[in-house]
Amino acid sequence: MTENKFPKILVLGSTGSVGEQALDVAAKCGISVRGISAHRNWRRVADQARALRIPVVAMTDESAARELRAALADTPIKVKSGNEGLLEMIRESDAEFAVNSILGEAGLLPTLTVIESGKDLALANKESLVVAGELVMQSAIEKRCRITPVDSEHCAIYQSLRSGEAKEIKKLILTASGGPFFGKTTKELENLTVDDALAHPTWSMGAKITVDSATLMNKGFEIIEAAHLFGVGADRIDVVVHRESIIHSMVEYIDNSVIAQMSVPDMRLCVQYALTAPRRTPAVIPPLDLVSIGKLTFFAPDEQTFPLLGAARRALAAGGASPAALNAANEVAVNAFLERRISLLQIFDTVLRVVNDMPHAAGARTLSQILDIDREARERATAII
Ligand code: MG
Repeated sequence: MTENKFPKILVLGSTGSVGEQALDVAAKCGISVRGISAHRNWRRVADQARALRIPVVAMTDESAARELRAALADTPIKVKSGNEGLLEMIRESDAEFAVNSILGEAGLLPTLTVIESGKDLALANKESLVVAGELVMQSAIEKRCRITPVDSEHCAIYQSLRSGEAKEIKKLILTASGGPFFGKTTKELENLTVDDALAHPTWSMGAKITVDSATLMNKGFEIIEAAHLFGVGADRIDVVVHRESIIHSMVEYIDNSVIAQMSVPDMRLCVQYALTAPRRTPAVIPPLDLVSIGKLTFFAPDEQTFPLLGAARRALAAGGASPAALNAANEVAVNAFLERRISLLQIFDTVLRVVNDMPHAAGARTLSQILDIDREARERATAII
């Protein structure tokens, strides 16, 4: 990457919320997008590929790939299909950076393939680190791959870490918006619906992560993500509820100095910084107006009412594929909740039961062992539901 120039990029999961915002950053900054991928939404991919003159696209759903091929028949755009087509696009691309904004566990193999193919990785798919954090970080070290976080909290910590050295870190402080159910009791959670859960106070995100934000599972995953990215144990990662989502996270150093990163809540800054760090480039988001915000508030998270935060800490401490089991059970439960098959509290019950029933997950180390645990946790969660 030369001065004043962005790298050429791939955007994996281009039709999701972060993927769309990544393409918006690319359009605004004149970044060359060398390939995009999505699962099923071929109409949106066709529009994106035409608008940004993208040479290669990958659809993991085979029948969607056929539709897309027909829709782009009048263009030179190459269409790859299936999971293997996606991995092939990653391997063959001349992009220097891949933004991985695929949703869920499906992002793991693409993450590993990006690393193996010698590209740098702007990581929005937190499941890559939740499911297989040790493997991912180890292979990044071996391949000298730079992983820059796109998650807003981790982007904030990444920036705040420039103020001191690793040995000077006392703790990381993740901020949480608290979600739409902040301040509610277990009793009050009983009758809440999907629509209540999808009304996020400050961030605009996809449905799955919005529910995870309402249950604080998302914050639990972010503890695991931070532990792997920054090599800091869960006992030194605190969570503080900050309703305004202006401070995106903080680092406390041994001299008790706390460095925070602030901005309006807009993921496009995280994508932009991930691609240029440690350099900065002209803004794509609006400036922060602190006077109009007036005040910033902070609360302790309610770990009693929202038990998945503690479950994430325990899974991280247990190690191996325990976080993978947690993630898999949660994916199944949240899907069932979004389809109105279970209640919000049943998400908690399902996930806690699956994780408690799988202490052997802690012994899984290799990718195939981890994927076995993932499958078993999904089966158990489905059986409970
Ligand atoms: Mg986040």
